[in-house]
Amino acid sequence: MDLENAGPHPLINSGSICWCNALVQSLLACKHIRAAIRDKSHERSDSVGLEDTSGREALIFNLIIDFFMKPPNSNSGAEFAAILHQINPHLNGQQQCAYEGFTTFVDGAPKFIGDLFRAYYNKHFICSLCGKESDELDVVSGITIPETVTNSAQIQRFIYAHIDRSVEKCCERCSPTKSVIHSLQYELHNAPKVIAIISEKYSTTKPQVDFPQELQFLGENSAFIQFRLFALIEHSGSKFGGHYWAKIAKRASGETRVFCANDSSIVPEGSTLIPKPESYIAFYQ
Ligand SMILES: [Zn+2]
Repeated sequence: MDLENAGPHPLINSGSICWCNALVQSLLACKHIRAAIRDKSHERSDSVGLEDTSGREALIFNLIIDFFMKPPNSNSGAEFAAILHQINPHLNGQQQCAYEGFTTFVDGAPKFIGDLFRAYYNKHFICSLCGKESDELDVVSGITIPETVTNSAQIQRFIYAHIDRSVEKCCERCSPTKSVIHSLQYELHNAPKVIAIISEKYSTTKPQVDFPQELQFLGENSAFIQFRLFALIEHSGSKFGGHYWAKIAKRASGETRVFCANDSSIVPEGSTLIPKPESYIAFYQ
């Protein structure tokens, strides 16, 4: 079976796992996870080559490698929910938030997989009282955009750099024990291989977020890299209720085919992944 070019596989929703099915379809469409695992799969079992050789980490390492190396089947959503449950027992296969599932995966997966999704930001603080400046490097698994950022240009700009003028932090110089307001400038230091953009999904008044088809960022050697939208997790209803599904774009021989993957229903949707008001998490690679 050609795992790289196959469309999404129908996934049974055996309980309240639409959130996990939508996440699984998006992760299975990510070319970097499988490529990274292929390079490491010889390390499977017996903790060979693992930094931490505790049984638990080795177990999760093996589960994740096995999951992505075999072809998907109709129970892949439930299998992935079980892996997330191993990482975080709170994720128990009941109705959950797809974003929580995503961060659990990124933070609990072996580092070489989690790193595919981690963006590094330079954070430059300026104290509003004394003007003292300080810097920190921050790592995020997925970039959350505020409700005011809705169009392509704003999204691209926000991911590069943005300012938050309301950050409370102790200032070593003028207020070492009590928080004062800082202005905080974020600047993208390193783009990850896979960019996940998370929008606000609970507000009923929010305008549609027009996730762009492409993004351009500086990569590791200060060279520009083009990123293409390949998956959208969409959601309707309330935070931990409602329903999740995914839209997946598969590229093969220069052609793009888009599918709506809604649990066991897979419906072709033309050749462009078009954001909708329900679009919640956008993945780029
Ligand atoms: Zn100060």
